[in-house]
Amino acid sequence: MKLIFLGPPGAGKGTLAARAVALLKVPHISTGAIFRSAIAAQSTLGLKVKAVIDAGKLVDDAVTIELVKERLAQADAQAGYILDGFPRTIPQAEALSAFSAADKVVNFDIPDGAVLERLGGRRVCRNCGVNYHIVFNKPKNEKVCDACGGEIYTRDDDREEAVQKRLEVYRAQTAPLIDFYRQKGILIDVDARPSVDEVVENFKKALGV
Ligand code: AMP
Repeated sequence: MKLIFLGPPGAGKGTLAARAVALLKVPHISTGAIFRSAIAAQSTLGLKVKAVIDAGKLVDDAVTIELVKERLAQADAQAGYILDGFPRTIPQAEALSAFSAADKVVNFDIPDGAVLERLGGRRVCRNCGVNYHIVFNKPKNEKVCDACGGEIYTRDDDREEAVQKRLEVYRAQTAPLIDFYRQKGILIDVDARPSVDEVVENFKKALGV
């Protein structure tokens, strides 16, 4: 199954994707995670995108589209995938439809207030990328990942100034994709406010899996 996860930052796309991978046996492809690895590795791509990402803005379409095109050409993505954080603009969605047709787009519905609360407490494993929250989804030890023992940190773009910018960017550039995919008849709305387990159940029902 080829899925796109669409929604504002902090809606829980990455958390649900981590659970859905086991269920659907397809890779979780997060453009944000690919960029963060590139930054950590100080690769050419990482050096190019770091300032833009830290400011809460979008990496340019051409760079992002090429990255996803190459990733989707790999063997593990042929039977399906979960695209998390891509597309984020109409040009990205149009480019994607030329090289891969998604079966469904899951729209994570959540008000801005809940997003701010979640991002303020979000922590991430530097090694495996698993998300935690200091109130709702605490790791056993606040600095160590339960899953892999990696270091838990706060993303630079989860700081307050960047979060406001990311929400603005989401409303202006990404939210128009909701209508874009609704018109294609492949959009599924999922209420992203309940607990992770409830969101997983609603997701399974909505997809019939
Ligand atoms: P995420 O982990 O999805 O919240 O992405 C973190 C950051 O990576 C975003 O705020 C953007 O700066 C950048 N990014 C991720 N995906 C895209 C995309 N599809 N287009 C442009 N920038 C992106």
